[in-house]
Amino acid sequence: MVKLNDIPLIEAHPRNYNPINRAHSSIKYVVIHYTSNTNDTARNNVTYFHDAITQTSAHYFVSDNSIYQSVPLNHAAYAVGIGSMKNPYFKWPTMWKKITNSNSVSIEICGGKTGPEPADNVKKLAAELTSELLKKLGLSPSCVYRHYDVTGKPCPKWAVDDNLKWLEFMLWVSNYFYGKDVDNLTDSPENYNMFKTWFERYLKERSAMIATWEVAAMNYCDEKGIIKDGRPKSILTRGELAEVMMRVDKKYSEAITELNKRMDNGNG
Ligand SMILES: [Zn+2]
Repeated sequence: MVKLNDIPLIEAHPRNYNPINRAHSSIKYVVIHYTSNTNDTARNNVTYFHDAITQTSAHYFVSDNSIYQSVPLNHAAYAVGIGSMKNPYFKWPTMWKKITNSNSVSIEICGGKTGPEPADNVKKLAAELTSELLKKLGLSPSCVYRHYDVTGKPCPKWAVDDNLKWLEFMLWVSNYFYGKDVDNLTDSPENYNMFKTWFERYLKERSAMIATWEVAAMNYCDEKGIIKDGRPKSILTRGELAEVMMRVDKKYSEAITELNKRMDNGNG
């Protein structure tokens, strides 16, 4: 059981965060990160941020059976800004400029024992911490985002490379939040609805992204009436493909008919 009041605080160096003294009611989001290290611990991380001036920080660090706090909740961590960069990593992350250091809490999940992905028990501990923070702050699981959703930085990388792993993490958060047994997730209507909610959010977020090479083709098809309403990364179903093929085929047939007419006129 995670109890927020029992989590030890080893405060980060004062230059590593913004002591804005905010009200808890001004916190609207929880942002999940990953340290990208191998076999690091929550304690080592908070000690490092206590000693070194990095001008970066997070509120909490989570590792195997261990949570440490580094920045008090009433202060803003330097966690989701983009420093001296002018633009995010890609255009445009869904929560760009909506989630800021001032209105969010950041949780760093430490690395795995041997590789770049934390073990399930560490992720579950972070999910439980997330759930406790949501309750304390009067928020719901829909207020939880990846660092990636704010700036496009691939963080937590394992949850960006494989979106199902993010969905799994969010299912754990939701199950803790609603007081369910996270170690025995059942095929319940609640879990199915949660999965649908997260998956629909993911599809919506994904559909809005556009790569530079797609811009000309998307604009061309829009002008010609072949594919309307954008959504460059949205899934095209067989039914929609049939509709698109029909539009193209009709245009082609019309052009051929027109050409034949002109040739007949010319011959007459
Ligand atoms: Zn991050």
